[in-house]
Amino acid sequence: MGLKYRVYLEGNCTVYGCIKCGTHLAMSEAIMSKQFQGQHGQAYLFDEVVNISFGKAEDREMSTGLHRVRDIHCIQCASLLGWTYVKAYDNDNRYKEGKFILERKLLRDLAMAKVHPKSRK
Ligand SMILES: [Zn+2]
Repeated sequence: MGLKYRVYLEGNCTVYGCIKCGTHLAMSEAIMSKQFQGQHGQAYLFDEVVNISFGKAEDREMSTGLHRVRDIHCIQCASLLGWTYVKAYDNDNRYKEGKFILERKLLRDLAMAKVHPKSRK
């Protein structure tokens, strides 16, 4: 597990990391919408997410209809973080294809100056 390349994000915006291990996942400027609901309440739709692994693709009935999705996990600690849309069966939801949902409660805000991504326990 420890050999996988980890991307280090930086920029003039908030970086979101895994709640458990702090691995960088996404930047606030990649947020497309904050109007999503996950298992734990509010969730964000991101254009781009890094340092994740994917579960099996499966069809899932969601509040906005049937979608083919894959769960996404942190590559470092394997925590379930959200899901990605592989396919939307409804035209109105096509914009979500290839995008990522991260649950707000499973993210921590990282202040750029304090981040030490290479530190391990
Ligand atoms: Zn993690």
